[in-house]
Amino acid sequence: MTRYIDNKFSDLFNRQKVNQFKIGNSTYKERIKKLEALRNALEFSYKQKIRDAMYADFKKPFLETDLTEIYPVLSEIKFAKSNLKSWLKDQKVGTPLALLGASSYIKYEPKGVCLIISPWNFPINLTFGPLVSAIAAGNTVIIKPSEMTPNASGVMADIVTELFTDDEVALIEGEVEVSEELLKLPFNHIFFTGSPQVGKIVMKAASEHLTSVTLELGGKSPTIIDDSANLETAVKRIIYGKFTNAGQTCIAPDYVLLKADLKAEFTTLFKSKIAEFYSEDVKSSESYSRIVNPKHFGRLVSYIEEAKLNKSDIASGGSYNASDNYIEPTLIFDMPEDSKLMTDEIFGPILPVKTYSNIEETVNYINSKEKPLALYIYSKSKKNIDFIMNNTRAGSGCVNHNLLQFLNHNLPFGGSNNSGIGKAHGFHGFEAFSNRRAMMKQHTLGATDFLLPPYSNFKQKLVD
Ligand code: NAD
Repeated sequence: MTRYIDNKFSDLFNRQKVNQFKIGNSTYKERIKKLEALRNALEFSYKQKIRDAMYADFKKPFLETDLTEIYPVLSEIKFAKSNLKSWLKDQKVGTPLALLGASSYIKYEPKGVCLIISPWNFPINLTFGPLVSAIAAGNTVIIKPSEMTPNASGVMADIVTELFTDDEVALIEGEVEVSEELLKLPFNHIFFTGSPQVGKIVMKAASEHLTSVTLELGGKSPTIIDDSANLETAVKRIIYGKFTNAGQTCIAPDYVLLKADLKAEFTTLFKSKIAEFYSEDVKSSESYSRIVNPKHFGRLVSYIEEAKLNKSDIASGGSYNASDNYIEPTLIFDMPEDSKLMTDEIFGPILPVKTYSNIEETVNYINSKEKPLALYIYSKSKKNIDFIMNNTRAGSGCVNHNLLQFLNHNLPFGGSNNSGIGKAHGFHGFEAFSNRRAMMKQHTLGATDFLLPPYSNFKQKLVD
């Protein structure tokens, strides 16, 4: 396997730059062949290695790896395969009458040499998902996965090395310094998935070369439950959304805004559904992941300890075990507004619930914070749903469910401002890695030649 240990990547970058036109001129059939090879690796030859790597990195259950790491990439490949031919067609657009004789079209051309920087929480999905879009659009790619999930990065490096020469796709493992070094290069596009803090660093570095960026970021995604909601369904689905991957999901419900009089029923349902999903002894459940590393474990434990110090209402859970980075699914009511749990993106299995009396309070609260990546509404009231939709802003969302919007490739996936810039998935991902070249064709005897100098009085009169 090729290793890039000298932290100087300009040679690799330049080789990709030279190769970009060969890759960019590949036919859709050739691109599909590459996507097929990736599908084959994920679905067959590397499937068990991926499962083992995810288990080694944070005890992720095999089935969860299949559903949340492998399946979304396979489905992205399938969607691209079905649609790439039409995506690559020049798109005809109308031409104003004043430009008589001309025809116009948009040509989707590859951006060129692209950088994908990915996070640790769904390492396979969030690295290979964008790679599918980049390949479909005809780019060369350098990938920098997260240093926090070394087993996943190792398997991805093996797959990339087996399927591609490094002047087309290269994967570079390493710490933050590797990212910093790569960000100095004049990429044609950077697709970054990670925190808003690092997103700002990436955007600043990109501005040096006026490199375009897609920033898939995070934040606190609210979930509103009103008194018309089917509470049992809401609790069940919120537990699925919050505790899959032990809450380490960018679009997980971060906190719940709950109509105050539902508190007791919500708590009872929460306890019974946790036991149903993960048994009475969650730590022995084969369906529950661990926190990725001691640093994040310590951060999450400090939230629980803060709640204990504040004498907050820890209605369920609250235990943890440092030996295997285990944190029990935890439910906490009405934490102080300035607590870390209410200000930071939680990214773990702790669910704070803030109670409200009037629906207006929910939108005011949400709008007092940064625009979220996702916003979820559990309600049967069209009036309430419309009110929330019309008076908030968010990257995506669901009504009466959560997370599932990620799986529909017809929907653009991404945030807004602090939660992200640009969109991914399906055609939207293909578009992120493409330049829309604006083209006009004119006949050699086009009537617009009339507008060329000399500007005679006769021409002036015709225009007046
Ligand atoms: P992170 O921002 O710490 O790291 C992401 C990547 O950036 C890693 O590869 C890391 O090596 C690199 N990096 C870290 N510091 C850097 C620096 N100073 N300069 C250059 N590169 C640097 O994020 P994370 O902890 O890996 O992931 C968690 C965050 O990602 C959360 O905020 C989460 O919401 C967000 N996220 C967003 C999405 C989405 O699709 N919008 C998906 C998953 C995660």
